[in-house]
Amino acid sequence: MSAADSATALLAQHGLRQTPVRQAVLRAFLAKTYAQSSHDLEQSLDSNTDRITLYRTLKTFEEKGLIHRVIDNTDILRYALCSRECARHAHTDDHVHFKCSACQHTYCLNQVAIPAVALPGGFQAASREYLMTGVCQQCQPMSAASAC
Ligand SMILES: [Zn+2]
Ligand SMILES: [Zn+2]
Repeated sequence: MSAADSATALLAQHGLRQTPVRQAVLRAFLAKTYAQSSHDLEQSLDSNTDRITLYRTLKTFEEKGLIHRVIDNTDILRYALCSRECARHAHTDDHVHFKCSACQHTYCLNQVAIPAVALPGGFQAASREYLMTGVCQQCQPMSAASAC
């Protein structure tokens, strides 16, 4: 499926009206393997997409469970596509995020679940974030990367 078809299908699956901006934003997410800030997305979109429309689009996508917030150790808010359809609001808290210190990209490790954490009595968690830092697959020296 091309990125354009995937974007159209994702909007349809989530009951969202097809608009050129929504399709373009989804295509921008689909084209990248790491979390996108609104600044990153602006670079991918054509220059007459205004910032307000972009923010509204991201808000709608987040509410509908297409994307989730990726908190890393910077003050830049990033988003990533959700790997599966998720009606739950707290769908960010099921997998580990990985921030690469070489390329500065933050990846969703969808296959890596956050381990269970036992809290002391009286503490009730509402959400959780799990961030690992290090060097990603793409930034490993050639010998290590050739394994996959
Ligand atoms: Zn990297
Ligand atoms: Zn994620």
